[in-house]
Amino acid sequence: MAPTPKECDFLVLGIGSGGLAAARRASGQYKVKTIAIENARLGGTCVNVGCVPKKVTYNAAAIAETIKHAKAYGFSVKETAPFDWTLFKHKRDAYVKRLNGIYEKNLNNDGIEYVHGTASFVDTNTVKVAMDDGTAQEIKAKKILIAVGGRPASVGVEGEELAINSDGFFDMETLPKKIAVVGAGYIAIEMAGMLNALGSEVHLFIRHDKFLRTFDPLVQDKITAEYERQGIIIHKQSSQSKIEKGNGSTKRLHYKDSNGEGVLDDLDEVLFAIGRTPELDKLNLDATGVKTNDKKHIITDDYQNTNVDNIFALGDVCDRGFELTPVAIAAGRKLSDRIFGGKEGAKLDYSNIPSVVFSHPEVGSIGMTEPEAREKYGDENVKIYTSSFTAMYYSMMEPEEKGPTSYKLVCAGKEEKVVGMHILGEDSSEILQGFGVAIKMGATKKDFDSCVAIHPTSAEELVTMK
Ligand SMILES: Cc1cc2nc3c(=O)[nH]c(=O)nc-3n(C[C@H](O)[C@H](O)[C@H](O)COP(=O)(O)OP(=O)(O)OC[C@H]3O[C@@H](n4cnc5c(N)ncnc54)[C@H](O)[C@@H]3O)c2cc1C
Repeated sequence: MAPTPKECDFLVLGIGSGGLAAARRASGQYKVKTIAIENARLGGTCVNVGCVPKKVTYNAAAIAETIKHAKAYGFSVKETAPFDWTLFKHKRDAYVKRLNGIYEKNLNNDGIEYVHGTASFVDTNTVKVAMDDGTAQEIKAKKILIAVGGRPASVGVEGEELAINSDGFFDMETLPKKIAVVGAGYIAIEMAGMLNALGSEVHLFIRHDKFLRTFDPLVQDKITAEYERQGIIIHKQSSQSKIEKGNGSTKRLHYKDSNGEGVLDDLDEVLFAIGRTPELDKLNLDATGVKTNDKKHIITDDYQNTNVDNIFALGDVCDRGFELTPVAIAAGRKLSDRIFGGKEGAKLDYSNIPSVVFSHPEVGSIGMTEPEAREKYGDENVKIYTSSFTAMYYSMMEPEEKGPTSYKLVCAGKEEKVVGMHILGEDSSEILQGFGVAIKMGATKKDFDSCVAIHPTSAEELVTMK
């Protein structure tokens, strides 16, 4: 006889950023009987193969850059201080493992029952969990949240099994001497920048002439030029046809770029970071009638409702854009506030969400790009302020060592409301958070100007633009 299904009020599929936030708010704060299912390590993409190990690696790359710059300030450090990637990688793994443990503790503290296994729908109120020991268990729930995130998109190139994706980046035991990175989105650009700063020979393959193509043109122009200045070899208008084994453990990549056909040999790795796909394959969504769009993202409304009454979706699996951890977390908290906390209109406001790229240098962006603003308001109603300069940090360096700083404010209407801000330069991620508050509050150019500058900083340019 099959075991009696477990029952709960709230069933959360996936314990990543968004699932955990929703479950903790529901169970910890509103005392709703909650079960959460996870088939991998707790914390999802962000903790295990995303933001956290990425930022720690970025910090290592930033230290490498600082060591390089230190000479200009009079330090007699070796420019290429030996970097022990293997030691660093294992320390980073241990840190992530500690975070996994903290997540488990938090689940317990908030009274969430945690089941380790893979979820698939039986019907709109029932989920089957394939447990790690080969058994299966059914769970019935009044409300179900799909928060299963995404995974790296597959490549579709002959020999793709020889390549790695962004998950594989975090498995690399040694720093590749020579690597091909394919992709023009933020993950490829961050990884290419980190590897270059740490000393790898990086070949970056992009389909067009610039990368970060969803960002403002100023960002695209400056960052592409800066990566070239730093010595990253950019293969423009490129495509890949084959990856094969090379000498020893190396790989060989056959490609086409703006210079014609080519073969790149002696590659320690070929890394594809060409986008992410919702993780829906194992979920048997067909059993529910929940609708997806043409990119297989679950269609939701502003309140994270799907087309099925008791089923909700949030984070990278849904169609709201902004595949970012704080977005998934905020959506999860708001959802539980609404469906369990009696806060009827609670929903995440998806407008003016700041986002950054941990490139070299960092990029920050909020609101509309210049082309988007011109399209929405008309050329005559848009005023652009830009400033490009050399940050004081570089004042002690030779011209060829100096990195760029560029800022743009996109303003609309007579009152010059700031509807977009795009910045590139040191510390852009930290700078953007504060300005994000002002823009979210509807700040105008006059409000920016009325804030007295902090001197000497780069960000002071943002309140003194003419
Ligand atoms: C390399 C990289 C760098 C990133 N850097 C940043 C950054 O700097 N800042 C930022 O804000 N965002 C960053 N992101 C994006 C961020 O990680 C995601 O937006 C965020 O994790 C999405 O959260 P989520 O809750 O939707 O899904 P996830 O966090 O991915 O969680 C989904 C969970 O569901 C589990 N799951 C899937 N299917 C099933 C199933 N059938 N049964 C049970 N469990 C299942 C998965 O194992 C996973 O643990 C980065 C992503 C990557 C890949």
